[in-house]
Amino acid sequence: MISMNPKIWLSSPHMGGTELNYIHGAFEENWVAPLGPNVNGLEQDLGRYLAAEEGRQLHIAALSSGTAALHLALISLGVKAGDEVICQSMTFSASANPIAYQGATPVFVDSEPETWNMCPRALRAAVEGRIAERGEKPKAIIVVHLYGMPAKMEEIVAVADEFGIPVIEDAAEALGSKYRGRACGTFGRYGVLSFNGNKIITTSGGGALVCHSAEDKSHAIFLATQARDDAPHYQHSQIGYNYRMSNICAGIGRGQMEVLDERVAARRGMTEFYRDLLQDVPGVRILVAPNADFFSNHWLAAVLIDPLEAGGRTREGLRMAFLEDNIESRPLWKPMHLQPIFEAAPYYGASGLNAGQIAEGLFENGLCLPSGSNLGEDDRSRIAAILEEFFGLNSGG
Ligand SMILES: *Cc1c(COP(=O)(O)O)cnc(C)c1O
Repeated sequence: MISMNPKIWLSSPHMGGTELNYIHGAFEENWVAPLGPNVNGLEQDLGRYLAAEEGRQLHIAALSSGTAALHLALISLGVKAGDEVICQSMTFSASANPIAYQGATPVFVDSEPETWNMCPRALRAAVEGRIAERGEKPKAIIVVHLYGMPAKMEEIVAVADEFGIPVIEDAAEALGSKYRGRACGTFGRYGVLSFNGNKIITTSGGGALVCHSAEDKSHAIFLATQARDDAPHYQHSQIGYNYRMSNICAGIGRGQMEVLDERVAARRGMTEFYRDLLQDVPGVRILVAPNADFFSNHWLAAVLIDPLEAGGRTREGLRMAFLEDNIESRPLWKPMHLQPIFEAAPYYGASGLNAGQIAEGLFENGLCLPSGSNLGEDDRSRIAAILEEFFGLNSGG
């Protein structure tokens, strides 16, 4: 029987309180459209936030989704039918789908075990492999900061630069994360953010493209607003899209930006909570930063359970135990190279130990745990009780 306790979600929206002020402002001035002061304001807030410790000038385009931002990045880099684009396999399908929108082919790359993100050695093997096979290098590299954990950007950017391939940074899950003090989303030629309802802050649905020049931003906005030429009538010499963010949604985003640092602290607190509970349990590993270079927003806390070392306990067993108390948890992303839609795509596994098995092993044994910034003491007690019983923590076992 499923318990009658209130549901604990994996990650649910958490309003800060000032969002409605921005929305009222939009109504009062009749900016109920996919442009307006909240859109401009959110772009400025994000630019300031991401550039904070760098003094660099960023140009942000607020869009209808993170997926739209990825799509526009690929179009802007000239990706077209027949091209290949390298993409981290261990990710959400939205990282890879826009490659298919362009009629291009994704080439998937395995993860490394420390951050669970793109393995720099497998990336090199993929680039060299594609050049050897096709005499042509891939058009772009999509790297993801999974669950907020920064990828090994120094090594990845080094490979990309060596071969002259632009990087698109999928930071949809990583707003507030940093690598060596620099904000995730600002390393690549383009960065992608998402404000979907489950992300660390939300606009109900939305995203943004992080650009490094005013030209890149205005080209993205041109494409996002139906690619209308400069003429009094509607004239088009390129295919356009309707990808701009609504001024109402942007109002939610402006309010959310005011509490972003609090949300990051709360999410990081959830991973700490799990680490404190589980760090001495055999066969159990929480995703934490490998060293001080990596600052994760810990959007979702995640655990690996090795059944051989954990007395036969499995992630599926834990998921079911949570479910019985009406607590949501979820397997890690299923790698893209195992997805029916991308069956035919090339895949490069990590070399060395467990060659090719890193992403598969993560999917097999990994679980995302309730991580909302709005979880209170009662929620934590219920979660802790399930974990203690499941792993036999308080029974001398
Ligand atoms: C959420 C997400 C996206 C897509 O963002 P939307 O705003 O939902 O379109 C892309 N990549 C990753 C890794 C995500 O988690």
